[in-house]
Parts: sequence; C-alpha cells; structure tokens
Amino acid sequence: MKELLFLLLPFAFLSGWMTARKRYRKSENKSHQLSHNFVQGINLLLDEQPDKALEVFLNHPDIDEYTAETYLLIGNMFRARGEVDRALKVHQNLIGRSNLHPDRKKSAMLAYGEDFLVAGMLDRAEKVFTEVLENTDSDPKACAALRIIYEQLQQWDRAIDVTRCVEKHSNKDFGRYIAHYYCELAQLDLEKGNVHVVEKLLELAKKADKELSRVLVIQGDLASRKQLPDEALKYYQAAIRQDSRLLSLLNSRLQSVTDDIGKDEKLKKFLMRIIDKNGDIQVLGYLIDVLSRNDISPQDIKYIESTFKSGTSSPATLMRLVSMWKEQTTDEDKIAQYDLIMGVLQEYLQDRSDFQCQDCGYQMKEFIWRCPACQEWDTVAQIK
Ligand SMILES: [Zn+2]
Repeated sequence: MKELLFLLLPFAFLSGWMTARKRYRKSENKSHQLSHNFVQGINLLLDEQPDKALEVFLNHPDIDEYTAETYLLIGNMFRARGEVDRALKVHQNLIGRSNLHPDRKKSAMLAYGEDFLVAGMLDRAEKVFTEVLENTDSDPKACAALRIIYEQLQQWDRAIDVTRCVEKHSNKDFGRYIAHYYCELAQLDLEKGNVHVVEKLLELAKKADKELSRVLVIQGDLASRKQLPDEALKYYQAAIRQDSRLLSLLNSRLQSVTDDIGKDEKLKKFLMRIIDKNGDIQVLGYLIDVLSRNDISPQDIKYIESTFKSGTSSPATLMRLVSMWKEQTTDEDKIAQYDLIMGVLQEYLQDRSDFQCQDCGYQMKEFIWRCPACQEWDTVAQIK
C-alpha cells in the first residue's frame, strides 16, 4: 500500500504543477520558474532521489494555496512511505511560509502533528495539536489525535475532554470510551483508597455508558475493599452475567470473596448455571477450582466428567480435570500417569497466550481492557 502511495507522488507533483500553471498563466516568467521547479522535482523523485527532490521543494521561493496543497500531499506521502524525517521537513517548511492561507496553515499543522505522532514523539505531537485547538473553536482531527495521545500517556482527564470534542463532530457514540476513561481514573483512586471519589467516578462512567460491565467489576472491588464480600460477590456475578468473558478476570476474586463468607455452594451453582445456559465448557475449569477447595462429591465429579465430554474443551480445562482425578486417587500408578500428562500439558501451556483481541488478532497472556496493539477497548476475549 505504501509503495502504491509513493507511486502517486509524481502525479501529486504534476497535479499541483498544472493547477499552479493555470494560476500563474498571466505571469509568463513566474510560470516558467514554477514549472521548471516542479518538473525537476518530479524527475528527481522518479530517479529515486528524494533528498534532492526535497531540496528543490524546500527552496521553492513561492507557494500559493494551490501549490501548498500539493506540498501537503507530498509530505503525507513521505510519511506513508515511512520517511517521517522528510515529511516533517516538508510540513515544517510549509508552516513557516508567511503568505500561507490560515486554512492551509491549519492543514499543515495537522499534518505536522501527525508526523510527530507516527514518529512516536507524543509530547511534540501534543504541542502541535493543542496549538491547532488554541486557534480554532474545536477541530475534530486535532481532538481525535489528542484522544490517542492522551490514551497513550494515560492522561484520562484530558482524554475525556478531547473525546467529548470528537463526539461533537461525529455520528459515532463515544460513550464507551469516556466510560472506560472514568473507570481508569476510578481504579487509580481505588488504589489510593479514595472511596468517595471512586463512587463519583463510577456514577460518571455509568452516565457515559450504562451497560459497561467494567463499572460492576470496580463496584465489586470497592465493596471488597470495604469488607463487604456479599456485596462484592453480587457485583462480580452481575458483571459475569452481563459479559461472560469476565469470568477469567474475576475467577480468583470470586473465589476470594466466597472463601471469606463460606459461600462455595452459591458460587458452584452460579458457575453451573452459566455452563448449562451458555454451554461454555471453559467455565468448567473454574468450577473444578471451586470444587477442589473441599471434598468433591461423586455427583459433582459425574457432572464435571459428563460436561467435559459434551463439547470441545481447552488444554487448560483438561489440566484442571487431570489434577482433580489425581486428587481423587491413592493408586501410585495412576498418580504417575496423571503427573506425566500434566507435565506435557504444563509445557504446552507455558508459552501459550490465553487471550486474543477480536479486532486485530493480537494475543496476550492476561485479560486487559484495551488491546495494546490496535488500542481498541473491550475487544479482548479468552481463546476458545
Ligand atoms: Zn487489537
């Protein structure tokens, strides 16, 4: 794709040159000067001499609004080709032109900021996009770029502000993003023990997106912190009912709160209901974890084995099943066989990712709310 874009470079030059020639037709000498520079630039690009072409462009004495657009394109195409240094030079040169129309200057600033963003220079990119916003009421492109920057810098307050600006200019609902940002702030305050602040932030998150199950998770964490395990259990279960992906995230928290209040039986029934309702055999592994904390009844073993056979399970669930069998026997030969199987499974599972982004396919070991590869929220799920 990038190669294709670069192939368009000469056409961008040519288009700019033709427009410019029309504009300058009245002044023959000037027209000659312009056409000579453009053709020279095209030839240099065709000869794969981008540095020399760049020199011709940067030393071009006169730029009007038509040629400015062409130069913007050239800078963008350098960026698309991965030549960010050249893109920066083109756009910086354009911004420095005193006779540039304010609209073109804004476009050049946006392109300049995009160059820094692509180069990973977030502080410089933020400065450029903020400057664009200072000179306009609000600009959707600058706000959208700043949203990405503040997400990466984890400046959630600012991310909320610019996302509202993006939303103002878009038909898309950004409530879920804003709700996640409030949840990020809530989690930080939860770690600091600012209970009232967390409650307020969760209210704002719910206002932004009333269906975000992450709010229930943090409400559960908050209840747990307040030493209210019954309430925590209620929130965690509500979160899982709303979004079964969260079981993997909440498994250990569920076990911890039920352990505190001796409600294994309640958790067992809850997990069995999920299996029976959704046919999700992945849940079986978590059920085995819960049951293994006490003596497992023959009836429960029968339920586990028949459920395991009823569908395709994962190696992680098989591992838990074999471990359960091992706990149930005193036969030395069987224990040795189970150890052998568990050793093989352990090795297999060691380097295996359990979670995957459903948007970009990126795999990871732990559940996280935002994919680190495509930066999307709520796209990570357990690999089935
Ligand atoms: Zn992704």
